[in-house]
Amino acid sequence: MIKPPPLRNDCFALPAGVNWTPVDDALALLRDRLSVVTGVEQVDLGAALGRVLAVDVIAARSNPPLANSAVDGYGFAGAVPKGAHVMPLLAARAAAGGGFDGAVPAGTAVRVLTGAALPDGVETVILQEDVTVGAQEIAFHGPLKAGSNTRKAGEDVVAGDRALARGRVLTAVDLALLSAVGVAQVAVFQRLRVAVLSTGDELVEPGEVISPDLIYDANRPMLLAMLGQFGFVPVDMGRVPDDRAALRSRLDQAAEQADVILTSGGASAGDEDHVSALLQEAGAMQEWRIALKPGRPLALGIWGGKSVFGLPGNPVAALVCTLVFARPAMGVLAGMAWQEPQGFDVPAAFEKRKKPGRREYLRARIRDGRAEVFASEGSGRISGLSWAEGLVELGDEERVIQQGDMVRYIPYAGFGV
Ligand code: AMP
Ligand code: MG
Repeated sequence: MIKPPPLRNDCFALPAGVNWTPVDDALALLRDRLSVVTGVEQVDLGAALGRVLAVDVIAARSNPPLANSAVDGYGFAGAVPKGAHVMPLLAARAAAGGGFDGAVPAGTAVRVLTGAALPDGVETVILQEDVTVGAQEIAFHGPLKAGSNTRKAGEDVVAGDRALARGRVLTAVDLALLSAVGVAQVAVFQRLRVAVLSTGDELVEPGEVISPDLIYDANRPMLLAMLGQFGFVPVDMGRVPDDRAALRSRLDQAAEQADVILTSGGASAGDEDHVSALLQEAGAMQEWRIALKPGRPLALGIWGGKSVFGLPGNPVAALVCTLVFARPAMGVLAGMAWQEPQGFDVPAAFEKRKKPGRREYLRARIRDGRAEVFASEGSGRISGLSWAEGLVELGDEERVIQQGDMVRYIPYAGFGV
């Protein structure tokens, strides 16, 4: 199988001379510079849920393949005018999967059931509820337009049309569409493997008995679970202390086992920020100074040919950076079309002043049609992430938000979680 080319070392470089890069510029850069890094495989529809189409899928046949009846009733040619009608009825029947081979003479009706291909000579169907049936005839009232209660061949999809586009993440309903147009197997990208590792001397596993100056690793379980929801294969690389040699060898292992590496903690420029220091050493580190709150610091780089997203250690910032940057970026690496989180505007149930010149995300939920936000913006307040059902996105240039102002709310589901 052919392998896609590796990413360029400078794929994460931000524009030079810019102090704080706006979120949208940073996203545009990820979208333009990254490309798929996984191979292609063929899967049956039954195994295709959540997979990413590697090619456009062309309809093998039309849906519906033939003109057919939309109701149970009686079919005949053409239109009928207003008024009472009596029509002779053929002693025949057209049912779904069991058509009527003969032709229906003009002015004559035939019994048709829902889904039955329209017999020759039939263009129009009247609902059985609107008909009185005699021994060899039917009576009903017009008017009825030609084609009433029928479906045209190919009215949904025409054979040869593109049914679904490359980059599409297949949903359950997509499988219905693919099956309907006669597609049994699809070419999909191999699942993106994403390594997750936490860094910090203070971290321990939940369940361990610990001294009060240590904390339990909150980011790793969140990130591993989320990656599964995004459709990727999470690879748990555990925790690493703030030790450069240990981190180096763990990154080496991660680069062997996965296509992408997510680290949390140690991404800024302090003494114990070994993720950024190592990426720096490897010569492929970009410190992302994004005009975003929460979210700093973010270190992007390449290690062993694999992209590394060095997320901040604060769980709230780690989540926001993952949803806003890492997910769409990993989507591109996985072959997905660019993912824009879908939100909607609702009145604010809160007041806030913010600094212009940066985007802010607040932990939020909708109650009574208004967006409420979590009482504290502290970036270590994990309970607020759990309280929230989504994020309010405040535009870069907004300054004052008053009760009732319209704000953009993006449910977690809009970010794929
Ligand atoms: P750092 O980015 O390493 O400077 O960490 C910033 C803050 O996030 C510190 O208070 C860390 O203790 C905390 N932190 C880092 N990693 C985690 C984690 N995996 N789970 C919970 N908190 C963390
Ligand atoms: Mg740390």
